[in-house]
Amino acid sequence: MLGAPGVGKGTQAALLSNHLHACHLSTGDVFRAAKSADQCHLSPAMAQALIAMRRGELVADATVLQIVKERTACLSCRGGFILDGFPRTLEQARALQDILQEQHVKLDATLDYEMPLAEVVSRLSGRRTCGTCKAVYHVQTHPPKVRDICDLCGNALIQREDDKPQAVAVRMETYQRSTAPLIDFYAKLGLLVQIKATGSPEEIMQRSMTQLESR
Ligand code: AMP
Repeated sequence: MLGAPGVGKGTQAALLSNHLHACHLSTGDVFRAAKSADQCHLSPAMAQALIAMRRGELVADATVLQIVKERTACLSCRGGFILDGFPRTLEQARALQDILQEQHVKLDATLDYEMPLAEVVSRLSGRRTCGTCKAVYHVQTHPPKVRDICDLCGNALIQREDDKPQAVAVRMETYQRSTAPLIDFYAKLGLLVQIKATGSPEEIMQRSMTQLESR
């Protein structure tokens, strides 16, 4: 899956993996899980990764590739696999091609979720996440019933470090510079499927499925 941060890739990956019984590998989720783990046991590479993530920068390719290689079992999942947030640089995309070749698996498609930049920025800066159950809200479009409190579990909502304005600006710039070139890379491989990422999550998922089925 390709698309700017905040476009809804995580939501789509969850819906699609559920629908297709596919394995969902999100490198961002792996880093977020490391953030909540015991900090004393972080490797130096993971500690560096968390600093980059907090600033909205990309984690070093070598660290990301290590994480993906440790999870190659996902690529042999019988229901297939969805890569969410990976690859994000040309180097990662090339390394992924090698990993896929070694594992004798092929990509069916690269889904590129498209949304106007202004909407993406508004989504990210208004997003609030439950620190406990991870439910996601938006201050304007999907507010909780009680301000800053999760409707589902009653715990406090937080703004992700990388959703703060300074980090959002860095993430968008990084996306344009490092990740947008992958659109061309996958177009040349004949794998690119562009999907309008506006509407409800279910509508977007239906759009994705229609495109996938027509291939
Ligand atoms: P995401 O939830 O996919 O937006 O990822 C959150 C953060 O994790 C990103 O802003 C990066 O700091 C880091 N990250 C996740 N995936 C990658 C990747 N493939 N390459 C580099 N950094 C990544």
